[in-house]
Amino acid sequence: MTLLTFRFAPSPNGKLHLGHAYSALLNQRMAAQAGGRLLLRIEDIDVTRCTPEFETGIFRDLEWLGLRWEEPVRRQSEHFAEYQAALDRLIAEESVYPAFMSRGEIRAFIAERGGRDWPRDPDGVPLYPPFDKALSARERKRRLAENVPFAWRLDVEAATARLTAGLSWLEFTDETMSATRAVEAQPQAWGDVIVARRDIPTSYHLAVVLDDALQGVSHVVRGQDLYSATGVQRLLQQLLGLSPPRYFHHRLILGADRRKLSKSFKDTGLAALREAGMSPQDVRQLVGL
Ligand code: GLU
Repeated sequence: MTLLTFRFAPSPNGKLHLGHAYSALLNQRMAAQAGGRLLLRIEDIDVTRCTPEFETGIFRDLEWLGLRWEEPVRRQSEHFAEYQAALDRLIAEESVYPAFMSRGEIRAFIAERGGRDWPRDPDGVPLYPPFDKALSARERKRRLAENVPFAWRLDVEAATARLTAGLSWLEFTDETMSATRAVEAQPQAWGDVIVARRDIPTSYHLAVVLDDALQGVSHVVRGQDLYSATGVQRLLQQLLGLSPPRYFHHRLILGADRRKLSKSFKDTGLAALREAGMSPQDVRQLVGL
């Protein structure tokens, strides 16, 4: 029997807070209960915002909390060549297209067409206009040759249509992993998401599905805020022939103002709580574990 595999996958672009502590400890608990593995993955593809100092802080905070994980730790910035290979496949299959519109151009395009009623993604951001998709091959070539800035966007409609057996459903489980529930994947909620940038051959979605598959992750346990991202990730998994994990999206730890914690909130940062004299046990209690 293969071992169940869990992972905690923080981005070193800030300090860990109580929400991360909850996610990490829950992964640890579920892995322990299943007699499974726990991996730590550093999601540092955003090389401008991620720093070695934040990464060191993550290790220190997690060790202090009592988390143990397998070595070596996978650091995404060391695997760009693998992401590039997957991207090349998506390009060759025309599942992605170069999208040239700047933020200003997107805004203007939408404003010209009525603005308010334009469909938005679950974060409230207007969906990317279908303009670049319709560019002629010649025009596309010309822009690429002229080095016009662009990002690779997933052609959700075309890519979904290409799946002859249709888009598979997602399997969700719960904290006890006693039952699973099939949920329809809805990648279209995000429109044509960015899959890679011109200078970075990946994006959060692409790197996460490749790594989860490559590392044999059987259970993705992460915050509710990533629930709707799962549909896009399911589509990418199918396009790339990757076997999907099961998902559990846990409750979010909210701040005193009932809002989602952010990496800039000082009072809920793990390092700050530690320096204020809190123990790992106090943190567990605070997050209800
Ligand atoms: N790296 C992501 C974050 O910091 C989490 C990715 C995931 O769990 O799928 O929120």
